Amino acid sequence: MDSAGGSFGFECSTCGAYHVGMPSFGWDWPIQYLTVPETDRDRRTELPDYCIKAALHIRPWPSRPYIELEPTDYPLAVEQREGISSVRVRQIAERVMHMSRTRHGDAAV
Ligand SMILES: [Zn+2]
Repeated sequence: MDSAGGSFGFECSTCGAYHVGMPSFGWDWPIQYLTVPETDRDRRTELPDYCIKAALHIRPWPSRPYIELEPTDYPLAVEQREGISSVRVRQIAERVMHMSRTRHGDAAV
């Protein structure tokens, strides 16, 4: 795999397509929060305090900034520190890319 993840790809178990390239995602809320319909979020959810200390290392162009997480047992910190498998990347990518679908491809209600 090159540094941009250009050779990474997987056959998606949700839509059946072959997705090419290393997925890159970011969002303002935990994924569990986003799976609740927007009209129900105030009533059905309570956002936990996920405070993870991080250090931002700015690097020269064309490198992206490097975010170093505090060495805790939080899953994101563990995966950054110990690495992440291609199977785990695929799980995350499929879930994020198809958030509005159920496992069988039907639109979520
Ligand atoms: Zn897909």
